[in-house]
Amino acid sequence: MKKLCIFLLSVFLLFSFTACAADDKTTQASDDSKLSVSVSFNALYEFTKAVGKDKVAISTIIPTGSEPHHFEPKASDIADLNTAKVFIYNGLGMEPWAEEVINASENDDLITIIASDGADIIKNEGEEIEEHGQYDPHLWLSLSGAMIEVQNIADGLSKADPDNKDFYQANAKAYRKELNDLLTEYKEKFAALENKNFVTGHAAFHYFCNDFGLEQNSVEDVFAEGEPSTRQLADLVEYCKDNQVTTIFAEETASPEVSRTLADEVGASVKIIYTMEGSDDSLSYLERMKANCENIYKSLSQ
Ligand SMILES: [Zn+2]
Repeated sequence: MKKLCIFLLSVFLLFSFTACAADDKTTQASDDSKLSVSVSFNALYEFTKAVGKDKVAISTIIPTGSEPHHFEPKASDIADLNTAKVFIYNGLGMEPWAEEVINASENDDLITIIASDGADIIKNEGEEIEEHGQYDPHLWLSLSGAMIEVQNIADGLSKADPDNKDFYQANAKAYRKELNDLLTEYKEKFAALENKNFVTGHAAFHYFCNDFGLEQNSVEDVFAEGEPSTRQLADLVEYCKDNQVTTIFAEETASPEVSRTLADEVGASVKIIYTMEGSDDSLSYLERMKANCENIYKSLSQ
């Protein structure tokens, strides 16, 4: 009898342990069940989050605060690529290191999504070629460009995780509608304005301008690298006065001091503009895009 009790107890304990182990595995499996996605920078994180929601685990390669156009990834920046299922980058020369890190990852099953695929590309001219390469990469800063990138991301995630295809496509559809609503709203607003020129830090808003029939002038185009000469500053001051520029837009990573100097010279105010190349105070893409549209609109309707 005693032996039988010990035997039964052992069976019970063994069963409990097995049950526990099985439980642990289930918990782990639910973590692993998220699709692991690596993205190059913040705007793509935002789009991927909007499409994948709780079904994706996203890591961002370019840290906020580093200059994204001249970023050179260290081994630690791209470690997640070894185990990621999907790698999403913008393309158009924004991540010249992309192909090299894909090859270096030795991750044969990695699915790569180039978010800008199929978009109408703006070719750079003059000094912009030196700064940003042959093509203007800033597609995500236009709402129509963002709609293309979101759809490419949804299609790529659907391929990587076909079980959740309907979920990704439905989220993309809803998010694209929000982008399109904002686009429609500001197309009307900007169309009614006479003044179409604004001044910002670096020339990131060409696609944005194409959406709304606007024109950007960038502080960095005039000053290039380093301190502006007296002559260049005088030229831009004249430009601002001729065009009744009352607001100079400044970005955290692109010449904020020069923007401030210029604003002082022409009696303009300085306003923050978001390029979504890094994260800003945990604001979403749509919140920052609305702020960009509204602030540019206000500055032009003064
Ligand atoms: Zn940029």
